[in-house]
Amino acid sequence: MLLTDELLLYYKRCRRRAFLDRYGDPTQQDAPQDFLLKLRQDSFAHKQTVLGMAEPQPTHCQEVSHSLQLGMAEPQPTHRQEVSHSLQSVLPPGINLENLRSPNYPRNDWGAGARATVELMQQGTDCIYQGVLLVHEAKDITLVSCPDLLIKEPGESEFGDWMYVPLRIKFGKRPKAEYQLIAALDAQLLAINQRVLPTIAWLILRRQESYAVKLEKWLPLMQEELGNCIEILQQHQEPEVFISRQKCSLCHWYSSCYAIAQSQQHLSLLPGVTPNRYRDLQSLGIKTLEALAETPIRTLEFLFGDQIADDLVQQAQATLQNRAILRQRRNVPVKTPPLEPLSAISENGCSVSSTQEPTNDQLSPLFDYTDTIPTASVELFFDIEAEPDLKLDYLLGILVIDRSANTEMFYPFLAKHPQEEASIWQQFLDLVGLYPDAPIFHFSDYEVETVKRLAKLYNTPLELLEPLLSRFVDMHQRVVNTVMLPVESYSLKNLARWLGFEWRDAGITGSQCVCLYNQWLKTGDRSFLDAIQRYNEDDCRATYHLKDWLFSFLQEHSPL
Ligand code: SF4
Repeated sequence: MLLTDELLLYYKRCRRRAFLDRYGDPTQQDAPQDFLLKLRQDSFAHKQTVLGMAEPQPTHCQEVSHSLQLGMAEPQPTHRQEVSHSLQSVLPPGINLENLRSPNYPRNDWGAGARATVELMQQGTDCIYQGVLLVHEAKDITLVSCPDLLIKEPGESEFGDWMYVPLRIKFGKRPKAEYQLIAALDAQLLAINQRVLPTIAWLILRRQESYAVKLEKWLPLMQEELGNCIEILQQHQEPEVFISRQKCSLCHWYSSCYAIAQSQQHLSLLPGVTPNRYRDLQSLGIKTLEALAETPIRTLEFLFGDQIADDLVQQAQATLQNRAILRQRRNVPVKTPPLEPLSAISENGCSVSSTQEPTNDQLSPLFDYTDTIPTASVELFFDIEAEPDLKLDYLLGILVIDRSANTEMFYPFLAKHPQEEASIWQQFLDLVGLYPDAPIFHFSDYEVETVKRLAKLYNTPLELLEPLLSRFVDMHQRVVNTVMLPVESYSLKNLARWLGFEWRDAGITGSQCVCLYNQWLKTGDRSFLDAIQRYNEDDCRATYHLKDWLFSFLQEHSPL
């Protein structure tokens, strides 16, 4: 069995992913999303920058996909430019990337790649780009890893008075566990090849900083994970589905895993059920939605605390009953005064104080709902589209609802080019200034943070900014503070869709808009901007829909 660095990396992210990548039916895989293709493109460009390579880049997401399929996406060591400072800082004195060499071997012939890499190491090559490290672990297990660089340094090894250390270039901002695990695998396989443990294993990350992996910590962890991974794969143990938005959203098995989770009413689909909480629920024998909805809160309280226990049970009830319910909190336990109730007299006649244990039925409202949502004759609904890599907020969309005039008007303040951000910020200020009493509804805190950022960047006076921010109403916060809904997450998409709202362009997401904006910048094709504008307007309208629904719901159901 061949076990590659990539398989181990995915195993660390999700055991099921590694299993399916080895044994799953490839026809069940989803096509890569545009955003994933963009990440690959950005990762490719990052590697080129660090290595000082000047290959022409693919022009947009689809072209990246094409080049990846052709096996051309990895940068080749030609057309050298200055290497990054981060890489320069980890190169030993006298080691020059001008002498960078790659092993020559037929694609996917790992044995040939490993032999060619050993030859380069024996020759004392300064830097080896994408060498292949291969070790036969046991009679039927072959381990393979391909660090981005093998860097020569002084020392004693199988090859002479020199040895190598591995280096990986990663696009993540942090030294994630899976990166360090793979760096430890590089170190271990290199140690077997050169018969001495490398002194260090390097990571170079997205912000160009270098990071030294602590091998004394990560080598044993890697060996443990590797052993578990081999066991699962050898024994064909298919790991259970667990849907987590963060790890599953870009996975090519998402559709098939999601279908399984839905058919099982899997608890991971319930907001608030994290992997750790899921494990705890399992240990209590709570394995179904029905069981969780009926669990006395005090059974969960000692594990999760009272608020999370309340939330989990009420969320299960909302999902099971497929209806919105007011978010409530148990009555605070009341200490009964001594001597008063008969039950408070102990057998020996002494008085004791007792605490009335609340039941699931003894719930009270968590908030004064009546003040939760402002309402006005003119209301503004605000949503932003951004390009994080350019540090740019390129579309400030405002939907103006004038209830007395019965009109609706959408204003897309759009920077067709990054340098127009200042101008759209001013247009935004001019529009919101026309309605000084109108509340500004938005979803999540991104809008508030962005308005602060833009105000600082473009020197907007505090006298203008403070009253503006005081009009902002975060509908995400209002929803999660007041109601439980039968949704899988409290995202705008899930909430508005549950209310029956549909986006005009099905399938477009916020992260896809980032790709579309890049495509517009590269091609000048206006249809990309039109799609983004439609999406942004629909986000504003969805927020409007949600606000009206929540206002009516709270009016109708608030017990206060
Ligand atoms: S969709 Fe999620 S659970 Fe399924 S393999 Fe991918 S990461 Fe794992």
